[in-house]
Amino acid sequence: MSAPQERVAVVTGAGRGIGEGIARRLAADGLAVMVSDIDADTAARTAEAITADGGRAAAHAADVSDRDACFALVAATREQLGGIDVMVANAGIAQVKTLLEVTPDDLQRMLAVNLGGVLWCLQAAAEAMIEQGRGGKIISASSIAGHQGFDHLGHYSASKFGVRALTQAGAKELAQHGITVNAYCPGIVDTTMWEEIDAGLGGYLGTGKGEAFTQYSQLIALGRPQTAQDVASYVSYLASPDADYMTGQAGIVDGGIVMI
Ligand code: NAD
Repeated sequence: MSAPQERVAVVTGAGRGIGEGIARRLAADGLAVMVSDIDADTAARTAEAITADGGRAAAHAADVSDRDACFALVAATREQLGGIDVMVANAGIAQVKTLLEVTPDDLQRMLAVNLGGVLWCLQAAAEAMIEQGRGGKIISASSIAGHQGFDHLGHYSASKFGVRALTQAGAKELAQHGITVNAYCPGIVDTTMWEEIDAGLGGYLGTGKGEAFTQYSQLIALGRPQTAQDVASYVSYLASPDADYMTGQAGIVDGGIVMI
């Protein structure tokens, strides 16, 4: 009996934060992982950490707002790791501004990274998966802000609502190829992104360092801060054969902030 083929995942925005947690978890699950980030140094660092833990990983820098870069990322993954079975389009940016202050440049960048990045990764991954003919799983980062419009984060919320739309349309279009498309919606995770949100909210709410984060964290029913590992364990499930019958979903993993 031949050994089962090693599955291969790409994780974008995996140089730090939630993406790093997902990359390390998928590697621990036995997948070979292409660690990608706009920052080549942090991507290499995550890949080295996985390798040091006995996993198989490579690193490739890519700006997900650049469609060609997403296709080059998938091509490099197939060349270096032998295929692609899972795409985790995790990379994203946030910006704290009221709707009255958002500029055309702000909106363009937000949509280019958070929505364009997910679409280009989906396109590149799906094209390769269809060619390989063994199905696949496409998993993208939405947010609780993709289920409720958050004040001071309106254009960010709009991009995350958009990820849910792409997830549902992608699930319908790609099912015929055995490809599932799902999203994950974290709550308040203590990463560099939240440090930036905390500082931005401070300017509006008059709160000091860490105070906005603490105020928002008090909404968590489970009563403890969310970690990247809490998100990664859900993504691990979505990437596994156990989730073969799930598609078009955007599951909330937030410790019980948004209950819908
Ligand atoms: P983070 O800012 O800590 O890390 C994001 C990573 O993405 C960084 O390594 C950064 O270099 C990379 N990145 C940024 N722009 C990129 C681009 N154009 N191309 C490629 N890589 C790029 O953020 P995080 O908290 O780990 O968030 C990860 C994802 O989860 C994001 O999509 C975010 O919107 C989403 N999310 C985060 C939270 C939270 O509370 N932290 C909550 C809900 C959803």
